Amino acid sequence: MRVIVTLACTECGDRNYTTTKNKRNQPGRMELRKYCPRLKKVTLHRETR
Ligand SMILES: [Zn+2]
Repeated sequence: MRVIVTLACTECGDRNYTTTKNKRNQPGRMELRKYCPRLKKVTLHRETR
């Protein structure tokens, strides 16, 4: 049930991370606060398709 998802920075649009999620526990769009190397700070990163 685990799928690979890409996380993109919501401020600059860079796709900085890939991770896995459990579709059963995380049915919607996943959002995580992650470090953005372009902006050199922590920003909100959102799952992309
Ligand atoms: Zn960014």
